[in-house]
Order: sequence, then structure tokens, then C-alpha cells
Amino acid sequence: MAKKVLKFGGTSVGTIERILHVAKIIKIEHDAGHQIIAIVSAMSGKTNELLKLSKDVSENFNKRELDVLLSSGEQVTSALLAGALTEIGANSKSWLNWQIPILTDGKNLNARIVNMNIESINKFLSEKGIAIIPGFQGISREGDVTTIGRGGSDATAVAVAKIFDADTCEIYTDVDGVYSTDPNKIPVAKKIDKISYEEMLELSSVGAKVMQSSAVQTAMMYNIPLEVKSTFTNREGTKIFDQESIDYSKSVTGVAYSKDDAKITLMGVEDKPGVAANIFEPLSKNQINVDMVIQNISSDHKTTDLTFTIKRDDLSKSLKILKDNKDIKYQNLSHNDKVSKISIVGAGMVSTPGITYKMFRSLADEKINILAISTSEIKLSVIIDESDTVKAIKKLHTVFDLD
Ligand code: ADP
Ligand code: ASP
Ligand code: MG
Repeated sequence: MAKKVLKFGGTSVGTIERILHVAKIIKIEHDAGHQIIAIVSAMSGKTNELLKLSKDVSENFNKRELDVLLSSGEQVTSALLAGALTEIGANSKSWLNWQIPILTDGKNLNARIVNMNIESINKFLSEKGIAIIPGFQGISREGDVTTIGRGGSDATAVAVAKIFDADTCEIYTDVDGVYSTDPNKIPVAKKIDKISYEEMLELSSVGAKVMQSSAVQTAMMYNIPLEVKSTFTNREGTKIFDQESIDYSKSVTGVAYSKDDAKITLMGVEDKPGVAANIFEPLSKNQINVDMVIQNISSDHKTTDLTFTIKRDDLSKSLKILKDNKDIKYQNLSHNDKVSKISIVGAGMVSTPGITYKMFRSLADEKINILAISTSEIKLSVIIDESDTVKAIKKLHTVFDLD
């Protein structure tokens, strides 16, 4: 007998038929003798719909109330799933964030789970009950409802697996595993059988939303093996774990993309110590994360051009800060939010020289202009024009032998 955490994403619980199907999957696992805690997302599209309702009231909708609103989607699916399980003869019950409670720290909309009470749920499991927990939601020390960031049900599942000391944590979704790139975008994408935490973390942090990055980070920290699999097929999924012997035969494991970024260029910035700090300090004080930075070499040693990228959602706030701050001097400012970030990720990159060159050459062959670059040990990201996204992914997928 194993204690299993099974997480079902938005598409998996997107209709009543699918919820009934998920109930059957859970019942089969339970009948096989396992203890089951199921984590559910809201029905697909629901969280966006709720977000839009808040925006219809105000673009600056109160964050405390926004968390109350957004978390409601997961309440609906938890109850429907527990009800569906009861209907097929299982003993099932749902618990909401405040009933467990799931304690979170940090700000509204971006809180993180720090602990939860396991007693009553463990008791229910030992009495052959199937526990349903809503993903994405928590409760602060002050008793306010919180949510833990978009895609956060993955993080709930990992936290539950850790705190309940589960044997497995299975992420059921609408694809049958982690692929070399988004299979819905590039049909020749290949399924990866196993992948290290480090690679998965890099892939998800640069846009592979099949796993939320903070969930992977927690799993890596506590060495919780994950399996990503399909709700709709019986195929083997992808195992994410601490791979001691990584297969270095491929330098690149996957290609990811995101359209979450925007680029700002300041032209004619004074080229002297302290100028970059003057620009980035007020951004950081306003919780704006700067990702990539490129500074052109100045020919006259007097002025330079500075390009950097930020999250697209932060663009208007950043522009306002730069324009209003009298300490920041430049001749011209331009910005572009029609960009996308393309990244290649692979543990094998460490031991393969020439990857950077190969990536840049391939993009040049396709006449794709690189607007900004950032690297880490096992990742290389570039910002390009949004309209070149698919062309770039296809090319890199082929060049790095992933087709
Ligand atoms: P869920 O609602 O189950 O959490 P998500 O929509 O968050 O599902 O994540 C699954 C989606 O992630 C897939 O439908 C796919 O389009 C996308 N995706 C992006 N990159 C990858 C990748 N490398 N491998 C698999 N899926 C990916
Ligand atoms: N429903 C939330 C979202 O759409 C959480 C999740 O689905 O994981 O972001
Ligand atoms: Mg998701």
C-alpha cells in the first residue's frame, strides 16, 4: 500500500464528463489498496474568467478580494470531484484551505505554502477515505484567503506530498508527459522518459508550463520524485527526479518559449560608474524583476545604449518609473512587447562546447534577429521578435537532434 498524491489540472477537470472520468481513475487507484489525496485545479479557463470579472470592476482590484475570488474555482471542482466519487460508491470528502488549514506566508496572489495540518485528513485516509484538496489556495497567518501564483496547483501537490510524507506525487494533465518542446505547438516534439530536477526547473522557468517552476523547486529541495502523465491515455509519463547518472549523449534536452517578456532600450545613457545601479534600483524597489541586460560598448566612451527585459505585465509600471525618475538620464527610450523568449535547456550543455555558437548560427540562418541573450550553466535564452517564435523553435528542435 502506498500513499499517493494525484494532481489533476484544469483540462482534466474541465467538464463534468472529465470529472467523472477522474473519479474513476482515483477509484481504481484506491481499490488497488492505496491511500489517495487528490489535488484539483479549477476547470480550465475558470481562473482567467474570474480574473476578467475583477478587471471589469477595476484594473486595480483589491488584492485580498482577488484571492477570495480566484480561489473559488478550485472550491467548485473539489466539491464536484468528491461528489462524483461518492456517487460511484467511494467514501470521499473535500477540505478547503481554511478547513485544513493550508498555512501560507507572503503576499496575496503570490503566497507560498509553509505548513498544513495533517491530522484530520490522515485519520480520514486511515478509515479508507479519499481526500480531495483544492490546489492553488491557502490561508495567511492573519486568516485571509491567499493564492500561490498561476499554475499553483502543482505547488500545492508537491507541498502536500512533502507534508503528508507521500510515496508518490503524480501530476495528471492533458499531455502524456514532458516533451522536448510544447507538443501542442511543435508536433514533432518528443516525449522525455526521465528528466532531472535541474533541467525541468530551467524548462519550466522559461515557459514550459507543463510543470510550475516553484513546484519543481520544492520537489528538488526535498527530493520528491514527480511523475507527469496523461489523464486521457494510459501511456507511461515522464519521471522527474534527482538523476545521478544523466545521459549526456544529447547536449540539449528541450526547447521552451514564453511570451511573458518585454524589452526596454535606453539610448544615450551616460557611460560611467553608478548609472546602471541608478536605473535598476528603483525598478527593484518596485518589485520589478529585470531578466536580461545588454549594454552596448560606447564608441565615444561617453554614452551607451542599455537594453533589458522585464515581465510584460510590468512594462507600463517600469516605463513610468523610468520616465518619472529624475536621476535616470538618457536621450531616448524605446520599448517592445511583441517579443518572445526562446530557451534551450540541457544538462549536457555543460560538457559540450560550441552550443552558443550553434544556436546563434541556426537563428541567423533563418534570418532571425537576436534582441537579448542570457545564459546559465544549463540554459541559453534569447529574446526575438514574437512573429519568429515557431520558426525559431522548429529550427532549434531540429538542429539539436530533438525531432
Ligand atoms: P494543467 O491544467 O494540467 O496544469 P497546463 O496547461 O498548466 O496543464 O500544462 C500543460 C500544457 O503545457 C500542455 O497542454 C502543453 O501545451 C504545455 N507545454 C509547454 N511546454 C511543454 C513541454 N515541454 N512538454 C509538455 N507540455 C508542454
Ligand atoms: N487555477 C489556477 C490557475 O489557473 C491554478 C492551477 O490551475 O494550477 O492558475
Ligand atoms: Mg498547470
